[in-house]
Amino acid sequence: MEVREAREVLKLYFGYDQFRPGQEDIIANVLAKKDTVVLMPTGGGKSICYQVPGLVMPGLSVVVSPLIALMKDQVEALLGNGVNAGYLNSSQSTKEQQLIEQQCFDGRLKMLYVSPEKLLSAGFFSFLKRLQINLFAIDEAHCISAWGHDFRPEYLQLKNLKLQFPEVPVIALTATADKLTQRDILTQLYLQNPKVFSSSFDRPNIYLQVQPGQKRMEAILDFIEERPFQPGIIYCLSRKATETLATKLKEKGYNADYYHAGLSAKDRDRVQERFLQDNVQIMCATIAFGMGIDKSNVRWVIHYNLPKNLESYYQEIGRGGRDGAAAEALLFHSLADVMTLRDIITQGENSKEQALSLAKLDRMQQYAESTSCRRKTLMHYFGEEYPGNCGSCDICDNPPTSFNGTELAQKILSAVARTKETVASAQVVDILRGSRNQQSLSRGYDKLKTFGAGRDVPAQEWQRYIHQLINRGFLEVAYDEHGALKLNNASEEVLFKGRTVELVKFQAIDLKEEKERRSKGKSRSVGAVALFDHLRQLRKDLATERNIAPYLVFNDNT
Ligand code: ADP
Ligand code: MG
Repeated sequence: MEVREAREVLKLYFGYDQFRPGQEDIIANVLAKKDTVVLMPTGGGKSICYQVPGLVMPGLSVVVSPLIALMKDQVEALLGNGVNAGYLNSSQSTKEQQLIEQQCFDGRLKMLYVSPEKLLSAGFFSFLKRLQINLFAIDEAHCISAWGHDFRPEYLQLKNLKLQFPEVPVIALTATADKLTQRDILTQLYLQNPKVFSSSFDRPNIYLQVQPGQKRMEAILDFIEERPFQPGIIYCLSRKATETLATKLKEKGYNADYYHAGLSAKDRDRVQERFLQDNVQIMCATIAFGMGIDKSNVRWVIHYNLPKNLESYYQEIGRGGRDGAAAEALLFHSLADVMTLRDIITQGENSKEQALSLAKLDRMQQYAESTSCRRKTLMHYFGEEYPGNCGSCDICDNPPTSFNGTELAQKILSAVARTKETVASAQVVDILRGSRNQQSLSRGYDKLKTFGAGRDVPAQEWQRYIHQLINRGFLEVAYDEHGALKLNNASEEVLFKGRTVELVKFQAIDLKEEKERRSKGKSRSVGAVALFDHLRQLRKDLATERNIAPYLVFNDNT
């Protein structure tokens, strides 16, 4: 009965005739007062999942949201739809806050958005205890995970919701799919028998493409020229690059602007607003731009630089095509970017984080260099099966010629099996090549049957074949300090059931030549000291870009 009411609410307030796949089951679970976790890609329609049940049930829903700008947008949209909603955060005067509080007491307000800081501030729980609360919704719930890129320490305190209000259901929502983050959400919020709804992370309307980074400026100009007036975002690693790029585009007559954490909050709001209103076509931005922004008609997302991991990449390209119409993602890949990111990671993080970050960067690079269907590679990374190829990426459009690589694959997989899934790819290569280095000998790898079984294939080539197996779902990587390779069902099929594997012949690039080229270029443009300073500055900036969310609500302890 309540579910029928949910449909009426959907129509009445939001004007939609039907739920999207998944939404209805999630809403039914919330209406049954059960704890719920929603993993759905950006643009999938998470807000409806708590707004609709919140409106069906009597009482007030409290929504925890990490960004003031986000809260404002959501509340304004709700008010526009005739839902009595409000928010409480540090940007308001005491008077404004009192007005909202009064509406809560009167029972007029249906939906209250609060920042985590506000929720945890002194006296706020006793304020909530005086109200009839029907639901706590925790948006952008991945902020609870220290593994993630948007970690917000205050989110850890949200466990108090369950401790203080055990009878009120909690719904946690995020677009971040990786397993560590999921686990953190479940445990840190103290959810009780939560039901996890994980919808497919595939965004089939986004065309995926990777190009070499050498001539990216020209490539970008061509790309934009062919797509007149289409709104798009260009993500850059450094603040400086966003400014330079925007300037260049403006010189060429394009309507472009830039956004990064170095701008004042006021300027950021202004620039973002202009993009949302279609007054700016092209936004050159750092990763500070975009979390939770609901602009449905972004037609393309370009990555000027390689992102540091696939989670960030996927979240960023997910800002394209939210209306479901065709969109494009173009990634530029250069070894120089990989080296810069490596330097940033190795100089900036403690050793455990470093290992994890480097492993994730490796996967990002492998994606960029992948010879398999890009979507398959991505979906596999997010733990989804993706049988077949997508037909909507550069690899599918232009498939590289492959050969029957079953025997090579079997050698790799059996080396993994014989070491009991304890080794990373570098050691597998050592084993296959029969390298008698200290580690191989001390661990007794030279006694394995596969030791030296692949001397005829160069190490670099083995490395690439291992990557291909990972990208195609024949091998897994454990995200721990060791990055050990693990077998899965598909690997067992190759080893024992005669399943064949297609591999793409690896074209070796001359690494020595590449290094010389790079070092020449460097010594001409910047000296070693200048390069070091540049990296240090970049690292500092990056930390701020990531912390842009806390910055927006940082003095919220009223
Ligand atoms: P998310 O928070 O998952 O990134 P949103 O909740 O902002 O996504 O929703 C993205 C867009 O999808 C919004 O414009 C929203 O109005 C729209 N949307 C959500 N549910 C439906 C539905 N059932 N039918 C049509 N559009 C929907
Ligand atoms: Mg959202």
